[in-house]
Amino acid sequence: MPMIKTVDVCKSFHTKMAHHPLQVLKNVSLTVEQAEVVCIIGPSGAGKSTYLRALNRLEPIDSGKIFIEDKLLFDCANGVNTVKISAYEMNISLLEVGMVFQTFNLFPHRTVLENVTLAPVHVRKMNEEAARAKAKELLDRVGLADKIDAWPSQLSGGQQQRVAIARALAMEPKIMLFDEPTSALDPELVGEVLSVMKSLARAGMTMLVVTHEMGFAREAASTVVFMYEGSILESGPPEKIFSAPENPRTRQFLQSVL
Ligand code: ADP
Ligand code: MG
Repeated sequence: MPMIKTVDVCKSFHTKMAHHPLQVLKNVSLTVEQAEVVCIIGPSGAGKSTYLRALNRLEPIDSGKIFIEDKLLFDCANGVNTVKISAYEMNISLLEVGMVFQTFNLFPHRTVLENVTLAPVHVRKMNEEAARAKAKELLDRVGLADKIDAWPSQLSGGQQQRVAIARALAMEPKIMLFDEPTSALDPELVGEVLSVMKSLARAGMTMLVVTHEMGFAREAASTVVFMYEGSILESGPPEKIFSAPENPRTRQFLQSVL
């Protein structure tokens, strides 16, 4: 079953500074099947973050369709969604999607454990005891069992990002979106976060990952997508994209990063 499907998603930004709207997403069509790991690569400004944010309703789209778990949530034209769906149903579907950002944004005045239990208790209405048990299990899974009572400021960037992953997982999403989860990290801390992501992938999580870590994409992705100036120019299995890219832009990009 497709867990994420978009059809012809378009998005422009209108700014006072520019005379013309900036078209950031141009007919982006992509399908992520269950348990698939899709990595989006491409230069800065390609629209990768905007696309992930659109999937999570953080960014409204102008036109196109968005399906989550095969359910049509958005069918937009001129910025108006024509799908008749209750706010409740919409929220239920969006809770299936977890997101991890480049900056971890942990709550600074909450312990690691509290950071992971807050949303399940307040949004999912999980009881505190169950939420704590679940959080401990997840923090153990990301290798931070000994840090549950620490403050975020006492953790390295890599540890904070692993807490952020545990926090997203605590909501029991069926899909995880990652937006350059390692690019704010010191190089020596990148590996620990990627290894948590790889184990998540092995456990069957459906993942859509924007990354500049080509080694990770090569190893973990089922499909690599190259995005450039708002369009998907090429996609395919990693062996194909990294060894025999067809589009000259893809070749150029890979030459610059590899
Ligand atoms: P990427 O993640 O691939 O680097 P983004 O999706 O962040 O690209 O941005 C794509 C383009 O949209 C960039 O040119 C960026 O400057 C522009 N952009 C992003 N967010 C906004 C915004 N809120 N208002 C205006 N322009 C934006
Ligand atoms: Mg980005």
